[in-house]
Amino acid sequence: MMQMTVGLEKQVWDALETVEDPELPISVTDLGLIQEVTVEGASVRVRMIPTYSACPAIEVMRQDIRRRLLEISGIDHVDVQLSFEEPWTMNKMSERGRARLIQHGLSMPSKLQIEPVECPFCGSTNTVLENPFGPTLCRAIYYCNHCQNPIERFKSPA
Ligand SMILES: [Zn+2]
Repeated sequence: MMQMTVGLEKQVWDALETVEDPELPISVTDLGLIQEVTVEGASVRVRMIPTYSACPAIEVMRQDIRRRLLEISGIDHVDVQLSFEEPWTMNKMSERGRARLIQHGLSMPSKLQIEPVECPFCGSTNTVLENPFGPTLCRAIYYCNHCQNPIERFKSPA
């Protein structure tokens, strides 16, 4: 980050760090969802990369971002745009984000959707897809045959 970007832009990034994915204890910045922040006068434009296009969490996050940013004094207009120019991948996540996901018991595809799924608890790849829909549209449930734990896993963007 450049030395010049203090003031409002810094406050915007700080506020974004407090906006979490509604389903995970990870901020939108750690998830790598924020592509760009532009501050012009009292207006902020945030470009956000959706993790999974059918994921209802995206709309919740957009609203959270708007609400948080409007709390910053000096900002009276917030526009959160979805960016489809580049697909979101796990590589966009910060190290802190990855560490939180693992603590949360979520398995991460290191490359795009390649089987088999590695169990985050015991490292076994003896896993089976239990429920492709998972608790939400954004995750799938696998089951580890080795340690017998259920594994929640992100779906990659289709
Ligand atoms: Zn296991």
